[in-house]
Amino acid sequence: MKVVIIGNNVAGTFTAQNLRSLNEDIEIEIFTQEKYPYYTRVKLPELISEKVAIDDLIIFKEDWYNTKRINLHLNKKVKKIDPSNKMIYIKDEFNPIVYDKLVLALGSMPNIPPFKNAVDMRDQKKGVFTLRSIDDALEIRDFIKKSAVEKAIIIGGGLLGLELANQIKACNLETTVVEFFPRLLPRQLDEECAVMLKEEIESRGINVVLDAVTEEILGNGRVEGIKLKDGRKFDTDIVLIQAGINPTIDLAKEANIQTNRGIIVNEFLETSEKDIYAVGDCIEYKNQIWGIIPACMEQSKIVAASLLGIKNVDYEGTTPKNTLKIVGLELTSIGIIDPTKEEGPAWDILKKADKKDCCYQKIVLKGNKLKGAILFGENKAMSYVYNKMEEDVDRDELKKLLELYSYVCNNCGMEYDEAKTGILFNDLPSDWKCPNCKGSKKDFKKKSNS
Ligand SMILES: Cc1cc2nc3c(=O)[nH]c(=O)nc-3n(C[C@H](O)[C@H](O)[C@H](O)COP(=O)(O)OP(=O)(O)OC[C@H]3O[C@@H](n4cnc5c(N)ncnc54)[C@H](O)[C@@H]3O)c2cc1C
Repeated sequence: MKVVIIGNNVAGTFTAQNLRSLNEDIEIEIFTQEKYPYYTRVKLPELISEKVAIDDLIIFKEDWYNTKRINLHLNKKVKKIDPSNKMIYIKDEFNPIVYDKLVLALGSMPNIPPFKNAVDMRDQKKGVFTLRSIDDALEIRDFIKKSAVEKAIIIGGGLLGLELANQIKACNLETTVVEFFPRLLPRQLDEECAVMLKEEIESRGINVVLDAVTEEILGNGRVEGIKLKDGRKFDTDIVLIQAGINPTIDLAKEANIQTNRGIIVNEFLETSEKDIYAVGDCIEYKNQIWGIIPACMEQSKIVAASLLGIKNVDYEGTTPKNTLKIVGLELTSIGIIDPTKEEGPAWDILKKADKKDCCYQKIVLKGNKLKGAILFGENKAMSYVYNKMEEDVDRDELKKLLELYSYVCNNCGMEYDEAKTGILFNDLPSDWKCPNCKGSKKDFKKKSNS
């Protein structure tokens, strides 16, 4: 059997690897339009600041493909799929490639919101960029070096926007992040933690503008600034747009494979067309797209098995896990972080907000089940949270881990539970009174956690 995979990043590569470990005999061919073997996109911002070189990003070199007997075809853009004849066509090549099973691991492309001039100025290389590939990063790096760039604007205050801003700042540019929403990382943080993060980002010399709806990119020969809907204008020499992704669906759509925002798949990662599967950033499952590496990894196991007729595990979606990768800034957000948006009772929150040490830990439980967390400024609880997601946990064990305590009033026995209030007892004002008997703060004694 011959399996053809289009796309050679996380989803395509790990599908190939999983296929090979399940079956020694099948023929595996990967086609990618890029000129590099599988590399990580995670460190692309550091390629701009020259903290890493291209070679540091490459995860599997040629010998890996040889050992696994996977044929990798670089610089091959697939221009058409012909499902009825089980063939694909490569740009500038006459002979089609035949397959028995086809896997679409086409990934996604940066989203460009409809700001006036954005697409034109990016395509005409006038100082507007998006970052998705090694070639994008090299172009940005060269533009900064050759065009006397002093000021940079990053549109998008999500994870990638902030990581990019950090590396742009490292290039010694005056750096401003412009965010549409009234807070940073709106999908990963609650309001309280977003305020702390903003302060931390600003303390690194990066300007943050919130509630900023970009309307237009200004400049003629090259970019000169941006204009917001409320009329505010900001000067800049370069604009980097990091405003989400769009799954790559064109090839599938033209082949009449069912698509919506992404390529529609079922729980076995099968598309609407027989013997064609899809995996990774390009898929849509139950109205959701993911755009993160853990989802690609999980899906690539299921698609490999399903393609070989092993259908004992079905895809149930991937819990969102996100870590901000800025040196010296610990931030992880996992699962459900805002239970007010969820249905049903029994939601509970354990929270520790230590403003002095810029530390915020929030654990979300449903009954006793761990459903999500925000861990900012400290990662002691990280491995516990990762290992226990969706499992029953012990509230007292969690309190111990987060170093949250209860304090008991010597006069009336009233208990002040830091985990419930989210405010550390020591952070309460000195004239704070027991809400029950009005005794003083000094009348409270710390209760042992053990
Ligand atoms: C700067 C940056 C940082 C990131 N950091 C993180 C992170 O820290 N954590 C995390 O979980 N995720 C991160 N991501 C997201 C992560 O990289 C993606 O989820 C992942 O790359 C998706 O893998 P994929 O294989 O599905 O698609 P892609 O990585 O998009 O790969 C698809 C490949 O298919 C090729 N292709 C498409 N169409 C064709 C065609 N017609 N012919 C031939 N080839 C084609 C594309 O060129 C591409 O090489 C980051 C992304 C970026 C851009």
